[in-house]
Amino acid sequence: MKKLLAWPIIAAFFLSASMAFAQGKIADKYRAGMLPRFLSYVQIGSMSDNSVEWMTPGQEKMAEVLYNEIKAFGFPTHFSKDKYIYVNIPSNLKNRQAPVLGISAHYDTTPDIIGNGVKPQVIKNYNGQAITLKNGHVINFMSDPYLKNMLGKTIVTSDGTTNLGADDKAGVTIVVTLLQTLAENPKMPHGPIHIVLTPNEDVGRSAERLELKYYHPDYAYDFDGGVNGEVVVANFSADRVVATVQGVNGHQSYAAENGYRNSAKAAGDLIAKAAPSANLPNNSRGEQGYVEPHHIEYDPVKNTHSVDFRLRYFDQEEGKRYLENIKQAADSLSKALDVAIKVQVIKQYENVAYGVKPEALSILSAAMKEAGVTPDTKKERAGTTSAMIMAKHGFGGYTVFTGQNNPHAFTEWLSEEDMFKAYKVALNLVKQVAQKQVAQLKVSK
Ligand SMILES: [Zn+2]
Repeated sequence: MKKLLAWPIIAAFFLSASMAFAQGKIADKYRAGMLPRFLSYVQIGSMSDNSVEWMTPGQEKMAEVLYNEIKAFGFPTHFSKDKYIYVNIPSNLKNRQAPVLGISAHYDTTPDIIGNGVKPQVIKNYNGQAITLKNGHVINFMSDPYLKNMLGKTIVTSDGTTNLGADDKAGVTIVVTLLQTLAENPKMPHGPIHIVLTPNEDVGRSAERLELKYYHPDYAYDFDGGVNGEVVVANFSADRVVATVQGVNGHQSYAAENGYRNSAKAAGDLIAKAAPSANLPNNSRGEQGYVEPHHIEYDPVKNTHSVDFRLRYFDQEEGKRYLENIKQAADSLSKALDVAIKVQVIKQYENVAYGVKPEALSILSAAMKEAGVTPDTKKERAGTTSAMIMAKHGFGGYTVFTGQNNPHAFTEWLSEEDMFKAYKVALNLVKQVAQKQVAQLKVSK
């Protein structure tokens, strides 16, 4: 009986050893195709823009290109009317059910810096010299200590007149190459996989029109992080709070008699009370949040002053205190100054740490180690697609490195090697999640 039992274990050992070997070799085959793919994507300007209703023409073009490329791989692919590209790959495992792996990336680039007309420069065998770009932009070891790891390797920059768009065309390249790999190696065992490429991440709207029908993974990983090994395990929660003070018309000289009320005074006092200097961004670091009054708008027709506050925090209790502070200030000022103040809260993104399955990190760590990558967890003082999905749909995910550096800058650059390693991590995630059982998943919930 014991001998009989030992056989399947030995067989499984050899099977998994040979699978790992084969997967490593398979990955190497796709490396050469990644850089040309990346270069072709960055040359399609796809900046997002908060002032348009939903999509910019550049994003539409990028989405079309990606959809046509992905559709040809032959997996069930859905191009939504909001230009999300979903791929739902059915499991090829026999006799058992594995959990659903989710992988995402965003194809827009930031509106903060020009991202159209990108002319990428490939620097092979980097020799450690400072890289001088047009308009006097310089990338060197002082500005980028991580660059020291790139000696002898391939990096990509813009020509200095635009950003590069590695955020997140690197992630998109990783995802598309993963899909190509799965399509061309149908015997590679995998469970169900949900892929989504989103628009509008850099304007905080990548989860806004996400359809759960096509993307509802058990374990979600967003390929939009930075340097080799980086994993974002927590991030700021973000609320936009708009306090609108309603003034009362009348001649100010006879305000005592005619009830004229000045909304600017109330807006100023509100800022002073709701955002004391101790809570401002310049006094916040590490895991401490902040309140930033960043915009005031006067509407002469409506006679209102609206104050836009940004609330950022890791700890939900801290966020509640900030909001309560604004509400209390609005309440006391509306009484003291006899004006109406309306407070509106818009949830923008949420700390993923509140909604990730506990074993999601150990799965990712295993996938990284198999790719020769040491996981480097960090808490991000910003938001991610995972954080936007978390706010809207209540499930979180980790953000994984892609090789992008200095996002949203003329000095943005890509490490070709890190992008390839991240692709290997994605491929290993497929294997790691396929080894899990759905039953296991239920126990751990
Ligand atoms: Zn990004």
